[in-house]
Amino acid sequence: MRRHLILALAIAGGTVGCATATPGASGGLLRVVATTTQVGEAARAVGGDLIALTVLLTPGAEAHDYEMTPTAAAAVERADVILKSGAGLESWLDDALVTIGGADRVRDMSVGIGLQAPADAATASEVDPHYWLSVPNAIRLVENVRDALNVASPADAGQFASAAAGYVARLRASDAEIRRLMAEIPVERRGIVTNHDALGYFLDEYGLRFVGSIFPSLDVSAEPNPGQLAELVDTIRRNGVTAIFSESAVNPRLAQAIAQETGARVVHEPLYTDSLGPPGSGAETLDGMLLHDARVIHDALIGP
Ligand SMILES: [Zn+2]
Repeated sequence: MRRHLILALAIAGGTVGCATATPGASGGLLRVVATTTQVGEAARAVGGDLIALTVLLTPGAEAHDYEMTPTAAAAVERADVILKSGAGLESWLDDALVTIGGADRVRDMSVGIGLQAPADAATASEVDPHYWLSVPNAIRLVENVRDALNVASPADAGQFASAAAGYVARLRASDAEIRRLMAEIPVERRGIVTNHDALGYFLDEYGLRFVGSIFPSLDVSAEPNPGQLAELVDTIRRNGVTAIFSESAVNPRLAQAIAQETGARVVHEPLYTDSLGPPGSGAETLDGMLLHDARVIHDALIGP
């Protein structure tokens, strides 16, 4: 079975997302697969040229419903260590590993993070996977990547540690700036409506308020029904919400329709939630993404 799969994958070819290394051609380096752009960025920063890194998701991709390509599966199969975001985000990886094998090489980067329920959780056991959207959690993510690489390649622990420390310092600087920006927003303007309920950790950490999200669940393929939309329109009006935030990885069509209905406006500068920004966006790093989002929120809510 395994041999047949490898053969099929070799024939299928193709390229994996923002892969920085060809699977199999690691030059003796530790072969690392990261699932999301956030985990990939932490791994790139901490592992540097000591690892051969493949990141499965690309900037702009919505993270909940990724479809594993044959090339991605080949990278996963050859990886020494697989870094996943965790918190229930990558059911698609778990499904693939049933076929490919290698669950024992997976490391969960959400370990030690205080996970919380989504704002509109249907059940008590539901977990919001977007924990990277607060600086303290992003710091823990970087440290978890460092620890996973340490275990996989103990001889390089010193370099991993100093790279991680540098990244954490940049994240702390972003944190201070985000707190300064949020403090400028009047309390009555701190209600947020987004496309999907991704910002819970950010809102809690930085003193903002969840008013509503357009897609009722984390899965943006499940569109809201007319009753849910009418309720959201009502909530937006009652809360005097003036801005609806779009996200880089989610279609803004419904946001525009709701804005028209309520007189709120859609903020076109996207928030980066499920994905980091593309190179050159300023949001292609964890500290850059969080600061970018804080600036977009600040500028939209601060008012005249
Ligand atoms: Zn999401």
